[in-house]
Amino acid sequence: MNPHLIIIGGGAAGIFCAVNAARLCPGLKVTVIEKSAKLLAKVKVSGGGRCNVTHDLFEADAFSRQYPRGERFVRKAFYQFFATDTIQWFEERGVSLHNESDGRIFPTTNDSQTIIDCLLKEANKFDVSFLMQTEVKNIVRHEQWQLTLKDNDTLNADFICIATGGSPKKDGYNWLASLGHSIIDPVPSLFTFQLPDHPIRSLMGVSVKNVSVKIMGEKLKENGPLLITHWGFSGPVILRLSAWGARMLQEKQYHFTIVVNWLQDMKEEQLKSLFLQQRQENGAKKIHSGCPFELPSRLWIYFLNTIGIEEDLRWADLTIKQQQALTQLLIAGEYIVAGKTTFKEEFVTAGGIDLRQINPATMESKLHEGLFFAGEVMDVDGITGGFNFQHAWTSGMIVAASVAARLNTTA
Ligand SMILES: Cc1cc2nc3c(=O)[nH]c(=O)nc-3n(C[C@H](O)[C@H](O)[C@H](O)COP(=O)(O)OP(=O)(O)OC[C@H]3O[C@@H](n4cnc5c(N)ncnc54)[C@H](O)[C@@H]3O)c2cc1C
Repeated sequence: MNPHLIIIGGGAAGIFCAVNAARLCPGLKVTVIEKSAKLLAKVKVSGGGRCNVTHDLFEADAFSRQYPRGERFVRKAFYQFFATDTIQWFEERGVSLHNESDGRIFPTTNDSQTIIDCLLKEANKFDVSFLMQTEVKNIVRHEQWQLTLKDNDTLNADFICIATGGSPKKDGYNWLASLGHSIIDPVPSLFTFQLPDHPIRSLMGVSVKNVSVKIMGEKLKENGPLLITHWGFSGPVILRLSAWGARMLQEKQYHFTIVVNWLQDMKEEQLKSLFLQQRQENGAKKIHSGCPFELPSRLWIYFLNTIGIEEDLRWADLTIKQQQALTQLLIAGEYIVAGKTTFKEEFVTAGGIDLRQINPATMESKLHEGLFFAGEVMDVDGITGGFNFQHAWTSGMIVAASVAARLNTTA
């Protein structure tokens, strides 16, 4: 009888594993079991419907540093299948990709369906089977692996790949824990900060290119663009903080204070000399008439109004007290965060299967031969920008190659 690989989960990691295993191992029966009615559901909605496939940071060490959890693990895995391989894989199958200025890579069609069509065409070409609306409830090892489905039917397999994605609740991993695997508590990553009732929210839509944001009382600090929204703060700098601080912010129950330097890393002394220069060179000009910094004018006016600087006040007449208040707002503004919001519905789970029990060279469980993992079910998550899909492609491909190697050595 032909050997059988069953992949549990029809997301990016599971399907990428399936199509590559079927291609690399002629004679291997490959079945994907998916509990919902749709394959690749997250790919469809990803990247705002455009699917941010990977990122153009073509150096494995630098790429690995974009993973708050799993950096060392993914670095080892990237030596086998990296972003450059992902690009080549899709391009060889007729999907042209393009880079955006911030490094994100999308299909040139800007439509995630292009990626889905490519993967499903490949699945069809190599006879991958699908069991849809079928949930796996349990796995045990007898002579082969035996899977119990929700309706109590059973299936046997020689190899299992678990690609069930992240789960927000720890009990979502109970059936995997029963195999002896440790689960790192899941917490959400990639969210935005709520500032309930804060007047700055009236500036929704305003974005600032280079802001530095620090979590007060902690070492965590990030730089990058910030977007003001109708509920608080979003944008890359906030998403990065939410990813690196996922566990710490959850412990704070999403109630904490941030300190914002709207002029990136400008220090008080530098700002003092800039103010002095303004007084000397533009003393007769009204402060309201133009912002001397790289800030949107709406934000500048908001700061001036916050500290009560009248519309006709000239630079020469700015008092020391007003200057100090303005300095505080510009380089050390404090904002109380109370709650989080999902970013464009994009989120990932930090936590999952403990990486110490998985071999990064094969993605095989260190506890059970023939049991493999791919994708977000593991305790790996990246910041936003295509890093989460890259981990799904890489781990899916490594499982496929590992099964192929196993079959070759047993042939
Ligand atoms: C809205 C959104 C947008 C995103 N955009 C991007 C982006 O542009 N770029 C990027 O890099 N990342 C993005 N991400 C993150 C990325 O989508 C995920 O990291 C990635 O999809 C994980 O793939 P996966 O295959 O591991 O898990 P999933 O895609 O979650 O797939 C797991 C599958 O397993 C099935 N399953 C679960 N349990 C069982 C069971 N017991 N039996 C049978 N089936 C089961 C689920 O139904 C699901 O279909 C986005 C995430 C979201 C939510």
